[in-house]
Amino acid sequence: MKYKSGFVTIIGRPNVGKSTLLNHIIGEKMAIVSDKPQTTRNRIQCIYTEDGFQIIFIDTPGIHKPKNKLGEYMVNVSRETLAEVDVILLLVDESLIMGPGDKFILEELKSIKTDKILVINKIDKLKLEEVDIIKNNYKELNIFKEIIPLSAIKGKGVDSLIKAILKLLPEGPQYFPADMITDQPERQIVSEIIREKALHYLDDEVPHGIAVGIDLMRKREDKDIIDVNATIYCERESHKGIIIGKNGRKLKGIGKSARQDIEALLGSQIYLELWVKVEKNWREKEKQIKYFGYK
Ligand code: GDP
Ligand code: MG
Repeated sequence: MKYKSGFVTIIGRPNVGKSTLLNHIIGEKMAIVSDKPQTTRNRIQCIYTEDGFQIIFIDTPGIHKPKNKLGEYMVNVSRETLAEVDVILLLVDESLIMGPGDKFILEELKSIKTDKILVINKIDKLKLEEVDIIKNNYKELNIFKEIIPLSAIKGKGVDSLIKAILKLLPEGPQYFPADMITDQPERQIVSEIIREKALHYLDDEVPHGIAVGIDLMRKREDKDIIDVNATIYCERESHKGIIIGKNGRKLKGIGKSARQDIEALLGSQIYLELWVKVEKNWREKEKQIKYFGYK
């Protein structure tokens, strides 16, 4: 049998479980999982290599009606990605009704020639009949080559998904070494971890208005310690106070749990210093967007 390889992208509304699915397939915490929408802003590639094939996953920013410059940028990145890849996975969750967000995505998909698979995630929350209802709703649209129900969190049905992808994958070379699972610079992963922890600790107090820049990441000479200095940017002075918290307690909490995850990821002791700065309307500024590595 000829070697198969190709690029697969996972799209879908925020929170449908894209990162969870990737993490399950790859088996390591590479894409960032969060119960907050849109933590995955960068294209994180995970590489799944088995005997005879290699799938390169691209976790695109969510497709949704853009509300500002960052939103526009994200939608453009998604569109470009969709036309370039070999297979598109559209993930939906257990909701029985298609919302306006789903319809926007489906319209976008109709105009793109790439083969598409629909993945119905979170079936652990559904009855069999309900899965069938969702299946039939999407079948009627004639957009998808296959429809695969699964539970990313339990890993149920993931094998069938890999098989379905493999059917659509073209013959191709092994692009990356077999032991490589991501090409994302460690810095970006570290910054996503800090962002994820901050959003988790902040609840909805500072909605979407933060970004994390890594100012320094350096291994100490002849010691197994990595120094990481990072800045959390927020839009308002009042947000800064919220992020720091009473007696700096919240920032300490964010730092502590981020440090634990970074240590697990890099397998090394981490000294993490966190700062908070106000950068008004950072989302509207292209310059800022570039600085944070979205381009
Ligand atoms: P993303 O925004 O699409 O990347 O979604 P995430 O992977 O961050 O997941 C969003 C939330 O859905 C998290 O709280 C996950 O634990 C949860 N989730 C993901 N997959 C499943 C699943 O198969 N079943 C259930 N019950 N929850 C899931
Ligand atoms: Mg995600």
